[in-house]
Amino acid sequence: MKTILDLTEILFPARCLGCSILSLGLCPRCKSEWSNRNLITHLPETIVYSSRHYSSTAKNILIAAKEQGVVKARQYLNLALQDSFSYVVNSSRENALLVPIPSQKSSIRKRGRDFLPELTRDLAIENKTRMANILVHSRLVLDQSTLHARDRFANLSGALSTRTTLGRGEKVILIDDLVTTGATLGEAVRTLEGAGFQVVSAVTACVALPLR
Ligand SMILES: [Zn+2]
Repeated sequence: MKTILDLTEILFPARCLGCSILSLGLCPRCKSEWSNRNLITHLPETIVYSSRHYSSTAKNILIAAKEQGVVKARQYLNLALQDSFSYVVNSSRENALLVPIPSQKSSIRKRGRDFLPELTRDLAIENKTRMANILVHSRLVLDQSTLHARDRFANLSGALSTRTTLGRGEKVILIDDLVTTGATLGEAVRTLEGAGFQVVSAVTACVALPLR
């Protein structure tokens, strides 16, 4: 019985995914927090386009989508990524290869699937472009959320590698669910450019402001 109830919650949540009050879909407060905004962040390595502020609502939507497999939460993320992608100027979107930031193998095992490549594939299909899951973790890194900003950069330095070194100047747009310090995106840019790709921008669903 519990299983049937759990499945119903995954498919048709009766509570707001942002704050858990009884509501079909997001309640008005969470809907406002999760509203579409044109948010641009300049990292030293690239420019990041996002459409949602990282708030308690956003945090709960991300957890529901990634860790609990709630279909509605994933749809919210799909839409947020699409909104962010639409802010990238047309000239740099053309023929760009969409490359997701990789999850650690332990997270993939725990979730039973690789979350971000799935979102990136949806985005590529929707926008008639290509995606390639070519970034991999080349060594174990600590959970970034447990570290201070300075330590996050050291934790990630040299932690990524590519499945191909034949970029030949091909344009890439990086895809992630959230940018916090920018340490992961920066490392991904260095790795891809070292392999011959040209990273034109990054697209994330959410941005934590101010960047910490
Ligand atoms: Zn709510």
